[in-house]
Amino acid sequence: MSEAGEGEGGRKRRSGRPPAASPERAALLSRVRRTRTAAEEEVARRLRALGLHYRRNVRALPGSPDFANRRRGWAIFVNGCFWHHHTACVRAAVPKNNRDFWVEKFAANRRRDAEKIRRLRRLGFTVLVIWECRLDRCDDRLARLAERIGGTASTRGSR
Ligand SMILES: [Zn+2]
Repeated sequence: MSEAGEGEGGRKRRSGRPPAASPERAALLSRVRRTRTAAEEEVARRLRALGLHYRRNVRALPGSPDFANRRRGWAIFVNGCFWHHHTACVRAAVPKNNRDFWVEKFAANRRRDAEKIRRLRRLGFTVLVIWECRLDRCDDRLARLAERIGGTASTRGSR
């Protein structure tokens, strides 16, 4: 008999497919975000070119920085403009659907970002945030970081 258990034909899939910008989809997307982005790969390439040694997704540090060197005392976050709600950036538009949800979500993301940077700085880390839309302008900042931490073991703790 065709009593087929799970009802493959799409009968009652929980509550139907979520619309494009629903909270469920946001949760899904933020999980997807855990994989490496093109922007991160680009930063990795530049760090290697500068001879900076790093680890990725350093969970032992506040906010799990995308790149960090604990011994040298630096950490880098590569921020997607949308998720981290880059101020005045065209890529950071608030979706029209579920607007309240997104406004609250972005505010929470920004609070969390600020907090993890504060905590890292308190630990004496030099922290850089590189925005996805400014990738091609980050060379100077990375070079300065390399200069600062490159030669001598400790230029930190100077405040
Ligand atoms: Zn941006």
